[in-house]
Amino acid sequence: MDKTADNKIKKLKRELKRAQSHLEIFYELTKAMRKTLHLEEISYIILTGLTSHQSLRYNRAALFFVNNEKKQIEGFMGLGPMNGKEASEVWQHIEKEKKDLYTLIENYHLIKKNKKNQPSFMKFIQSLKFPVDPKSGLIFDSLEGEILWIKKGNKQLKDDPLVKKLDLDEFIIAPLKIKGEIAAILVVDNYITKKNITKEEFKMFEMFSEQAAGALENSYSFELTLTKAHTDSLTGLWNYGYFQYKLDEELAKAKSTNQNVSLLMIDIDDFKKYNDNFGHVQGDKALKKIGQIIKNSCRKIDIVCRYGGEEFSLILPSNNKKEAHLLAERIRKAIEKNKILNYKFTISIGAANFPKDHAQKQELIKKADDCLYEAKRKGKNCTITC
Ligand code: GH3
Ligand code: MG
Ligand code: MG
Repeated sequence: MDKTADNKIKKLKRELKRAQSHLEIFYELTKAMRKTLHLEEISYIILTGLTSHQSLRYNRAALFFVNNEKKQIEGFMGLGPMNGKEASEVWQHIEKEKKDLYTLIENYHLIKKNKKNQPSFMKFIQSLKFPVDPKSGLIFDSLEGEILWIKKGNKQLKDDPLVKKLDLDEFIIAPLKIKGEIAAILVVDNYITKKNITKEEFKMFEMFSEQAAGALENSYSFELTLTKAHTDSLTGLWNYGYFQYKLDEELAKAKSTNQNVSLLMIDIDDFKKYNDNFGHVQGDKALKKIGQIIKNSCRKIDIVCRYGGEEFSLILPSNNKKEAHLLAERIRKAIEKNKILNYKFTISIGAANFPKDHAQKQELIKKADDCLYEAKRKGKNCTITC
């Protein structure tokens, strides 16, 4: 065989090997994406797949979501140079141990837990917001539905908001469709190595982004169904089932991180009397308003539920006894001073704390309930903390 033919065969073999390894990565990634329906976890898998050395190898990858209510495109997650090493370590571990990509998810939760050590690129991406408006430039234009591969030294884009913020040179920007609408945008580049993107890499990215969009779509539908199933239809607050599920989750989290969780049980005072005087329909309206006032008095991370009837239960992550008492009093006073439907309502509150009062969920609920009972016994319109 002559030398050129030999070289050709060698080249073909190399290409075949590369294509094979890409397919394997693809298979692993799609398998991992099918294993979780949680939006954050899916997003982390997508970005790790794009940045790790063993897979698509981009230096940076960022994911944005379109917030239709606020009419802005918001940075959701980013993996950057600082994470390249971390992403590779996870991959190597998976290869060595023959574990599957589910390991990635555990890894993501470790990063998330450690807020202080959050990679700066992640924080930076999460701070980005672009209005859904032509003046946002390329990121707005990408909502048109085109995947764009911008080559090096594009002078027309030098003042573009996204290009400037991320200091982009050569990069790919891809809109991801969820239920037929553009809901997310992926951006990748080689910020550190300045390596050109090849045609083959672009093709891989195209295929990968389609898979990613599919995985995000599944996750979206799942979260929507979950939200609907767990929402109380009268008040729009979380329902009893979700309260039980979330309290388990928050207690487990608090146990593993040595944090506090507090629990408030709230009951409207003499609500039967109100119903008897004004009727159930009016009573329902009042319940809804009271629920809203309670929710508005809380922090964003507090989980406000309708426990049943005219009772509410609140999970307060990372709040100690004192903080829980202060919040309870703020809620109580907010109800007291608000004239709801021209009526002066009052509420009674019982508060319990993990780990101070009990470590078991049902016992903790009972403690808070006992305190609520005590508040009623003491004349109502007050807070009793265990
Ligand atoms: P207390 O101060 O001891 O709490 O007195 P109360 O009358 O509020 O008694 P209780 O907490 O036992 O409240 C039960 C009453 O709440 C019965 C019912 O009239 C009313 N209620 C419970 N669920 C609903 C609801 O979904 N809609 C309406 N309109 N009223 C409800
Ligand atoms: Mg009651
Ligand atoms: Mg009551």
